[in-house]
Amino acid sequence: MKPLVLVYTGDGKGKTTAALGCVFRALGSGGRCAVIQFIKCDAQSTGECRMAHQIGLLWECYGKGFLWNQESLEPTREEALKGFARARELAASGQYDLMVLDEVTYALSLGLIDEREFLSWISEIHEMNDGPCLIITGRGASMALQTAADTVTEMKEIKHHFKSGDIKARKFIEF
Ligand code: ATP
Ligand code: MG
Repeated sequence: MKPLVLVYTGDGKGKTTAALGCVFRALGSGGRCAVIQFIKCDAQSTGECRMAHQIGLLWECYGKGFLWNQESLEPTREEALKGFARARELAASGQYDLMVLDEVTYALSLGLIDEREFLSWISEIHEMNDGPCLIITGRGASMALQTAADTVTEMKEIKHHFKSGDIKARKFIEF
């Protein structure tokens, strides 16, 4: 069956959690899943990452944290390239049914990963028989990426609790 490529983008809350909801669903149906996180990567501090380790879900982080804390983009670029290489390797292994590439849109829009190369990999995935479905998350998915995908959902902010001023990242809702 042709693998599907889904993109969750937009400024509203819910992109990563929607992707993980799909992982939850796939696991329950016997799917073999992997999550690769780009850019932010708070492997030690999020509930989802701890849970992944508890249940033996492959979860790897390729990032150096928030970009505004970085003096140079180079370490983040190196990580992003490693993450992309790893995603290619996992997809080619035939061992996965669903792979999440979380926040990879930032690596693409910043030019850390070459977008043409990424899009050509997506074409390869589409041509694989029984290759993994991909869920790509992050704000600002480019038109080219949206065109290449089978499903694109935009999370639109109507309201966010952070904007009320006094609410910080909340356990269970944010981490
Ligand atoms: P989530 O991980 O909750 O599904 P997301 O993946 O859609 O969120 P990101 O851009 O990855 O959103 O940002 C993650 C963090 O930023 C979350 O803590 C989330 O609550 C917060 N956030 C997401 N959207 C907004 C927004 N529109 N305004 C303020 N904070 C936001
Ligand atoms: Mg996210």
